[in-house]
Formats: sequence, structure tokens, C-alpha cells
Amino acid sequence: MKRFFLSFCLSAAFLSCRKTGFQGPYEETRFLMDTAVRIAVYDAGLSREEAASAVHRAFGRMSVLESRVSAQADSSEMARLSRHSGEEACPVSDTVLVILRTALEVSERSGGAFDVTIGPVQDLWGFYTDHPQKPDSTDIAAVLDKVDYRMIQVGDGRVRLTRPGMKIDPGGIAKGYVVDAGVQSLMDSGVRAGIVDGGGDLRIFGSHPVNRQWRIGVRHPRPDENSLFGVLSLDGCAVATSGDYERFFMHGRMRCHHILDPQTGYPANGCISVTVTADLAMQADAYATAVFVLGPEKGMQLLESHPGLEGLILYEKEGRVLCRVSSGMRKAFSRL
Ligand code: ADP
Ligand code: MG
Repeated sequence: MKRFFLSFCLSAAFLSCRKTGFQGPYEETRFLMDTAVRIAVYDAGLSREEAASAVHRAFGRMSVLESRVSAQADSSEMARLSRHSGEEACPVSDTVLVILRTALEVSERSGGAFDVTIGPVQDLWGFYTDHPQKPDSTDIAAVLDKVDYRMIQVGDGRVRLTRPGMKIDPGGIAKGYVVDAGVQSLMDSGVRAGIVDGGGDLRIFGSHPVNRQWRIGVRHPRPDENSLFGVLSLDGCAVATSGDYERFFMHGRMRCHHILDPQTGYPANGCISVTVTADLAMQADAYATAVFVLGPEKGMQLLESHPGLEGLILYEKEGRVLCRVSSGMRKAFSRL
């Protein structure tokens, strides 16, 4: 499954910590959603068997949801919606409703920088295939009229894509939703503290058994000797990173990556990495993608104007990596 342009290093690596007495987390990693997903239970009150069965249940729940929302599986609800674009409304599960309603809200708030109808353009670039390539500009121009979140009608358990040829690409939000579902499953099993880390989209909950806060590493987008750019010290919350180094290929000197500007159909080029914190992983995931597309100025305005969102924007100027940190994140962030 590993593709040449897909990096498996986690954008937000979970930092180990000194422990006194605590025997360490129970953890497991599985391949889900095209990435290595790690679940760690930090609950000293649970036996190893109890922790293992909670983790097992959480992975089970996450893999059911993945098959429901994946854009790649022909049998998924998202794929069915796209096949019926321009036709009648399709009945959908609550999962799809929640994801699409949240996606539309993020689209509204970001002025369309986030847009789950990016599917036809994403297909031309082929980032979910083994052979991504730079499409002809005429091909991009020919599909841009099928990209507009305002052509999604959501209501009453049904969804309709109003124009033929539209295609939902849930890649910028669905992973966050599935991470949230993993956390919910762990909590339902009685786990009081832990982490579900979907490689770039993660959520921590409860109190760390030893440290005052959880420490999350932010990956350096252009690593030389430092693989981490900085560290966030956080209470329970979700953290998502969108970067131009996750899925990309070089076309001459142009870095062609998977976060696309819905206005142009080309990779967004203002930022190189955006990390967002929010209560839910679904929100953090979608807003990280939205802020990335908006660029450092407008992206920071969006973060500052939205209570509950904080973030770190990395961008390049004259070969140097610079950063902007939102006002509510400054205390939590330390540069390495
Ligand atoms: P990942 O964490 O998987 O690297 P991101 O959360 O950064 O992904 O989102 C990138 C993915 O979102 C792309 O692979 C694509 O599926 C989708 N996407 C790309 N551009 C946009 C956009 N402007 N709006 C919404 N989704 C997008
Ligand atoms: Mg995202």
C-alpha cells in the first residue's frame, strides 16, 4: 500500500515522557484510512486485558466508519452520492450527514477555501493513485464548474449533488470524524485517558497520568537535522496538521501537493504546514485544510475570529521557514 510520495512519519508525533510509577500506555497501531493509526490508553485503573479490548472495539468502530465514508471504496455512501450527482437526492446515514454539514459550515466560514466537492479536480491530479500527475490546464478548467459546495443540498436524511459530474472528496475531513469516533468508543468502554492518532489528525482525552499536560510534537515541514519544529503542551483536545510534504510529487521545481485551491484547481501555495487545535478532530482536520488554502494572512484571521480554534501556520520566505502562532496558542507552543 505504501506509495512513493506518501510519508508515513507522523506530522504530530506524540512525545514520550518521564514516568514515575505509571507503567506506560497500552498501545496498538493498525493501518486504516491509508495511514498508520495508533491508539494509546493511558488509564492506570485498567488492566492490560481491559485496555486491549477497549482498543480492539475502537479500531472495529473506526474501520466500519471508514468503509462508509471512504471516497475510494465504490460501495461507500460518499461514492454513491457522487454516482447520482445531477439526479435525485440519496438517503444517507447520520455519519455522512454530520460530515457534510460540518464540511458546509467550514466552507461558509472559509469563503469556500474548504470545499468537499473538490473531487473532480483531485481525480485529475490523481493523488489517490500510484501515478499522480500534473493535469493540462484545459482539463482543470473543464471541471471547475463542478466544484462548489453550494451545489450540495443537505436535508432530512437525504443529500443531493445538484450538478452532473460532481464528486465528493471527504479526504480533508473524514479522517478527523473517524478519529473522534475512536475516542468516543474508548470513552464508552470506560477509558478515562488516551490518544487516537491518525497520523496528522489526533485527539487526546482525559488527564495524563503523570504529567500536568500532554506534549505533542509538530513535525518540521523541511527537516534537516531537526525532525520536529516545536512542541505543544495541551490539555485534552484535537490536533490536526495539513502539510505540503504529506502527498506530493515534483514537477520540475513545482511542488505538486494534495491540498488544492478550489478557485484555481492547483495546489494552494501560501503555507507549507498548518496545525490547528479544536475540541473535535473533525473540526481541527477541516480547518487545518481550510487555513492552508487561505494562506498565512487570511488563514490567521480565520483562526483568530473563531472561538475554540487555535493554530500554528508555517510558511516559507526566501528559503526560510517562518511561523505565525494564534494568540491563544502562544503559551502552549515552544519552538525547538
Ligand atoms: P491528510 O491529513 O490526509 O494529509 P488533509 O486534512 O491535509 O489531509 O486534507 C487533504 C485532503 O483533503 C486531500 O488529499 C483531498 O482529499 C482533500 N482536499 C484537498 N483540497 C481540499 C480543499 N480545498 N477542500 C477540502 N478538501 C480538500
Ligand atoms: Mg484536513
